[in-house]
Amino acid sequence: MGDKYQEFKIMLNFIQENGYQLSFFNECGMNCYYHPTEPAVARCTRCGKGVCSQCIRYSGEAVVCPACDRTGQTEGLFYYLKYVILYVALFCIGYELDFMSSETVRHSPYESGYILLALVCGWQALNRIMPLRMESGTLVAWGIYALLKALAAVVVGIFTAPLIVLYNIYKLIVEFRRE
Ligand SMILES: [Zn+2]
Ligand SMILES: [Zn+2]
Repeated sequence: MGDKYQEFKIMLNFIQENGYQLSFFNECGMNCYYHPTEPAVARCTRCGKGVCSQCIRYSGEAVVCPACDRTGQTEGLFYYLKYVILYVALFCIGYELDFMSSETVRHSPYESGYILLALVCGWQALNRIMPLRMESGTLVAWGIYALLKALAAVVVGIFTAPLIVLYNIYKLIVEFRRE
């Protein structure tokens, strides 16, 4: 995929710089949705519209049209924004509740905040590998699954939370500047 993509980009740059109208490159046999007289060089992987060399955009390695590129950026922005708000909110809730401390054991309220923060970070990381979705099963089975996932999330999150938080803030800034 990577090599093909590089080749494709080099070819595209060549076409853009030289102003060529390479009809053999029109492998999808359609014209650009935005420029009906221009041959399409690729198809948007989200909506299937043809895009010319001027209109082509990339979302990761996938080819998208300008409209789907904007939609994707907005979705990305809200995805990261949602998590950053969640981090702050749960850290504050944990700090306020101070659930780690009891009558006999004193803990810093920051520890309770960090545990809740770790839960969200771990959950976010686990979602990438095991989405919270069960095809069938009772509510009890679903509850046990969610509970086990939450426990695993705390363990994963305790070690990775600072990195995950930084990564999300970084991505949020990147997405925001692209808007
Ligand atoms: Zn599209
Ligand atoms: Zn176009």
